[in-house]
Amino acid sequence: MNTETRQAALTVAARATGPDDCRTLLSMLGIVGPRPKRRPGRPPVDHGHGDYRTYLKGCRCDDCREAQRLRGIAQRARWSQDPSAADRAGHGKPSTYKNYKCRCQPCSKANSADVAAFRARRRAAAALGGAA
Ligand SMILES: [Zn+2]
Ligand SMILES: [Zn+2]
Repeated sequence: MNTETRQAALTVAARATGPDDCRTLLSMLGIVGPRPKRRPGRPPVDHGHGDYRTYLKGCRCDDCREAQRLRGIAQRARWSQDPSAADRAGHGKPSTYKNYKCRCQPCSKANSADVAAFRARRRAAAALGGAA
């Protein structure tokens, strides 16, 4: 690779959302990098779009976002069925109140404080005359 191509490749790499995106962008520019070495162990599996695993790999297309959103809903529903999950997450946190639907006193208090802080921020933003 000459210096110019290398510079372009670095720019693309900095903007890419992940290795796959990076390779796609590079191939669009006609830049072909060194062939990736075979990694030991299981090869990376491409689950296609509309799969939360593809989202976790960095894809933010509508299908992958939706899959990730539904997974979050399913996960919170599972967590709320299992009180020990809230214990593991730790009490006294607004996230435990929301994600695990824990309604113990420390979690309720933490969530109330969180909601109050959110409202205060919103009021402050409104008082300053505009969108936050
Ligand atoms: Zn996708
Ligand atoms: Zn709790």
